[in-house]
Amino acid sequence: MGSGRTGNVSAACVLGLDLAGSPRRPTGFCVLRGRRVHVGHAFSDEDIHGLVESAAPQLVAIDAPLALPAGRCCLLDTCSCARTTHFRVSDYELRRLGIRFFPMTLGPMRQLTRRGMLLKVALEAVGIPVIETYPGGAQDLWSIPRQRDTAGLRRGLARFRLQGLGRSEGSPHVLDAVTCALVGKLYLEGRAWSLGSPEEALMILPPPSSARTVLSHRQTRGGPALHCQQDSSDVG
Ligand SMILES: [Zn+2]
Repeated sequence: MGSGRTGNVSAACVLGLDLAGSPRRPTGFCVLRGRRVHVGHAFSDEDIHGLVESAAPQLVAIDAPLALPAGRCCLLDTCSCARTTHFRVSDYELRRLGIRFFPMTLGPMRQLTRRGMLLKVALEAVGIPVIETYPGGAQDLWSIPRQRDTAGLRRGLARFRLQGLGRSEGSPHVLDAVTCALVGKLYLEGRAWSLGSPEEALMILPPPSSARTVLSHRQTRGGPALHCQQDSSDVG
């Protein structure tokens, strides 16, 4: 990460991925360079690797669990490791913050976890740093709506003054990918918050103070800085 801290971070390129568990369903992507975004949907792993090759990002920020809980060797119910735990340290920390999420051992999350872990290994093998993030958690910390309220999330992201994403543009997957990329940029700038244990892959989120910053700019919103909206479309 040295280049991120010492190089021209504001011009750094970050690829945000709202990864789908299945290549048959759309993965939202966002290539963020400065304030300019290039967004869209990818499907196959080949699509994703093609994106990485053409964008050559300094960092890839993925919305998917990228490591198993310590003590788990797999996500199979039939394995003896299933009797140990379903959660990582970062999961407990999210829960303490009141940020809702789906455990990785839950149905469709398993497929997403497997795909995310394989993608991380493949990208790191070619020297591209990868972080795990969670758009729903970032959006809670920024006190902006989650993807279920797509129009509200578009308005919420408009404060970042991104170029290349109109106020009425972006599918829920794309908006979550934009959120991933913004968190990745904070990470490169050394301004992100890391939850959990490194042996389980850290969960990278905006710093808690950013919620207050957001609130101070939007006094009309009121309410608690951390609010949660259960959103079933977050799965996969
Ligand atoms: Zn196991």
